[in-house]
Amino acid sequence: MGEMFNKARKRLKTAAKHLDIDPEVIEKLRYPKETLAASLLVRMDDGSRRVFKAFRCRYDDSRGPTKGGIRYHPAVNMDEVMTLAFWMTFKCAVANLPFGGGKGGVAVDVHKLSRAELERLSRAYVKAFATFIGPDRDIPAPDMYTNGMVMGWMVDEYSSIVGYPSPAVITGKPIALGGSVGREDATGRGGYLVLRHLEKELRLSPERSRVIVQGFGNVAFWCAKLLAADGYRICGVSDSRAGLYDPDGMDPDAVLDHKAKTGRLDGAPTKGKGRIVSNADLLTTECDVLVPAAMENQIVEENADRVAASVILELANGPTTPAADEILNKKGVTIIPDILANAGGVTVSYFEWVQNKAGFYWGLEEVQRRLKDIMVPEALRIYAIGRDRAVDLRTAAYVHALDRIGKAIAAHGTKSFFAG
Ligand code: NAD
Repeated sequence: MGEMFNKARKRLKTAAKHLDIDPEVIEKLRYPKETLAASLLVRMDDGSRRVFKAFRCRYDDSRGPTKGGIRYHPAVNMDEVMTLAFWMTFKCAVANLPFGGGKGGVAVDVHKLSRAELERLSRAYVKAFATFIGPDRDIPAPDMYTNGMVMGWMVDEYSSIVGYPSPAVITGKPIALGGSVGREDATGRGGYLVLRHLEKELRLSPERSRVIVQGFGNVAFWCAKLLAADGYRICGVSDSRAGLYDPDGMDPDAVLDHKAKTGRLDGAPTKGKGRIVSNADLLTTECDVLVPAAMENQIVEENADRVAASVILELANGPTTPAADEILNKKGVTIIPDILANAGGVTVSYFEWVQNKAGFYWGLEEVQRRLKDIMVPEALRIYAIGRDRAVDLRTAAYVHALDRIGKAIAAHGTKSFFAG
C-alpha cells in the first residue's frame, strides 16, 4: 500500500475509538474491495499508437454501488486512486447516499492531446473497464481535467457496448444527455450551506467575516459567489499562477469576467486597492474563513502554524495533511472537513442517477431544496457529534460515516451480528 493511502486509512482507527464497532468491520475497510489497472492502447493523430496507464477502484459497496470521478492527470497512480475512493466511501455515507466509494484515473497530460485523441482515450477507458463499471455496480463522474464532454463520450461508448442507452452509468453528463440541472454549482452550494448553517456555532457573520478562497475554478467561484451575495466579504481568490487580495473585498462575478477575458487574475477589479500575492502567502493572510478549493496537500506542516483564519472550509479533497490537521486543532482552528464540506457534488450526482433511473426529470428548485435537505441536517449532526464527544469535526464526520458503513457491513453478516 502506498504512503498516501496508508495515511488516509489511519482515520479508521481514530474514528473507531469513538464507536462500539466490530473489529471485522475495520478489517474489511482497511482494504479496497476491487482494483483494476489497464494499459490503454490509443491511436494518436499522427498514426502512431501510445499506451496510457489507467486505473479504477471500487473501495466498498456495502451501502450500494460505488461512486466516484475519473481524473486525467500525469501523476495519477493506484495509490492516489485508492485514497480518493476511500474518501468517497466516507463522503457518500456522510450524505447518507445509497452508494459506496469508487474512483478512477488515467496518467495523462490532457494539454498534450488533441480533442480527437482525448475522445479515443476516453472511449478506450470505457472499453477496458466496461465490466467493472455499470449503473448498479460502479458509477463514474468527472474529476480533475475531465468534464461533461468526456462523460458524454464515455456514456455513448458504454451504451454501444451494452446495446441500449444507459445514462445512469455515469453522472456529470451534459443536460442534453440526461445530466441534472443544479449540478454545476452543487459542490460550491453545498459548502456554502454548511457554513451558513454552522455560522452561529463558529462565531461568523456575513457582516463581519472575511473570506479567502484558494482556487477560482468551478467550486471556488460558486461558493464565493453565494457567500458574497449574502454579505460575506471575499478578500482573496487565486489560480495556479497567483493570488488576488484586497482587504476591502471583491465581486466574484466581476473577477470571473476579467479572468474569462484575459485568462488572468492580474488587473481584475476589486473594491479597494487589490494586489497580486503569491499563492503561498494567500493561504496565511489575515481572514476569518479560509476555503481551499484547488487541490490536495495545500495546508501542510510547514505553513499550518501561520494560517490566520479561525475556520477552514475544505472544498478541495484532502487539502490539509494529517500533520497540519494536528497543528491547526491545537491552535483552535475549526476545520469543516472535505467529506462534509464538498459532499454537495456527489449528492446532486446521486440526484442525476435517480432521475436517469426513473426517466423523470426535476426542476432546479427541487434539486436545490433536496440538496439543502441533505446538507444542513448532516452538518448539524456532525457538529453535535463533535461537541458531545469533544472531538474535531473531521473525526466527528468519520465517526458519523463509519457508524453508517459499519451498520451496513454488520447487516451483511459479521460474527458479532450473528452472535446477537
Ligand atoms: P477546476 O478545475 O474548475 O478548478 C481548479 C482551480 O484550482 C483552478 O482555478 C486552478 O487555476 C486552481 N489551481 C490549480 N492549482 C493551483 C494551485 N497550486 N494554487 C492555487 N490554485 C490552483 O476544479 P473544481 O471542479 O473547482 O475542483 C476543485 C477542487 O474541488 C478539486 O480538489 C476537486 O477534487 C474538488 N471537488 C470538486 C467537486 C466538483 O463537483 N467539481 C466535488 C468535490 C470535490
